[in-house]
Amino acid sequence: MGKALIIGAGGVASVVVHKCCQNSEVFEEICIASRTKSKCDALKEKLQGGKTKITTAQVDADSVEELVALIKEQKPDIVINVALPYQDLTIMDACLETKVDYMDTANYEPLDTAKFEYKWQWAYREKFEKAGITALLGCGFDPGVTGVFSAYAQKHYFDEIHEIDILDCNAGDHGYPFATNFNPEINIREVSAKGSYWENGHWVETEPMEIKRVYNFPEVGEKDMYLLHHEELESLGLNIKGIKRIRFFMTFGQSYLTHLKCLENVGMTSIEPINFEGKEIVPLQFLKAVLPDPASLGPRTKGKTNIGCIFKGIKDGEEKTYYVYNVCDHEECYKEVGSQAVSYTTGVPAMIGAMMVMTGKWKKPGVYNVEEFDPDPFMEALNKWGLPFKENFNPDLVD
Ligand code: NDP
Repeated sequence: MGKALIIGAGGVASVVVHKCCQNSEVFEEICIASRTKSKCDALKEKLQGGKTKITTAQVDADSVEELVALIKEQKPDIVINVALPYQDLTIMDACLETKVDYMDTANYEPLDTAKFEYKWQWAYREKFEKAGITALLGCGFDPGVTGVFSAYAQKHYFDEIHEIDILDCNAGDHGYPFATNFNPEINIREVSAKGSYWENGHWVETEPMEIKRVYNFPEVGEKDMYLLHHEELESLGLNIKGIKRIRFFMTFGQSYLTHLKCLENVGMTSIEPINFEGKEIVPLQFLKAVLPDPASLGPRTKGKTNIGCIFKGIKDGEEKTYYVYNVCDHEECYKEVGSQAVSYTTGVPAMIGAMMVMTGKWKKPGVYNVEEFDPDPFMEALNKWGLPFKENFNPDLVD
């Protein structure tokens, strides 16, 4: 079928590369390009020999010029951005200049403000329409599959959805006192920010970790979870008709929270640069450098993740509830692709999203969030490519 240019060579990229190689009918060729080329070469080394042809390249994705040169040389059908959110706009600019489809798994966030929202990327709508190319935003698990689940619930089970609770549970244990499951800088920026939820057309802001609930997750058990702001709340608030409230909860263990509080209290999570022995450093970036590399957690993580959405709404005049979720086992992911479940649950939907665009199922000029497309082929692909979904029509609700 075609060729994908994958930008980034970290935890998520590694899963995307594995999955593209498993799906060689669609991904006949891939180029893995990142800041550190040796990481791209290591992935190529691991996976070459199959049907998908793999090449590698060095690129600084902060530079539109370098990206344009690389895209012109590689001539991909799509650019899969699994670098960091800071690179979203430069990569979108390069796609516009070369008229190549774009997708990512996280929305743009300026390096110095720790505030993620879609406004920067939605501002590209008209430019992408005019260029006749597609940008698919936020196609990991959350955001990503959670939006597909919402579109699926809306299409098949509800006349109107009134409430969505997105529940993200990671019950994996890596054995370290403190580590983050994906890029520590992005992860800590997300959890130390104020929480918020969407209600009756407005954001309701909370203090960080102010709202706590306990939920008994299928196949995992009872866990503490906390309300966070999360990027899909913004797009779902616009795209799900009749929606009154959307909340996002993520589970955290007490040890993680105690460590985080301590790091916060001593200033280690700050993104304000400080002068240290004549050199300017950002405390959070320094912290990232001393924490375990998320990629190293794979072989040591045991347990499962459970991520899904609970919907409340109306069908044929009756109140209805519906829970759809995926359970993923860290050790099984590691056996299959050499990564733990957090990277796996992001990388598989990224490959599927790219496949949807490349096969024309999700291709139309403009900038879109996943819930704006037909969820059915994506749901089918989740079952086929390693993230099967389960349904419950009488779930426990979150109060
Ligand atoms: P990693 O930190 O493991 O990997 C990021 C990669 O991007 C690294 O290879 C890094 O290169 C590369 N990179 C960073 N800056 C540049 C640059 N300027 N030019 C070229 N390459 C660059 O992150 P993850 O794999 O964990 O996460 C990838 C993305 O997935 C992030 O945007 C994250 O927010 C998102 N994500 C989304 C989820 C979802 O469910 N939607 C869940 C988890 C993550 P180097 O090796 O040199 O540092």
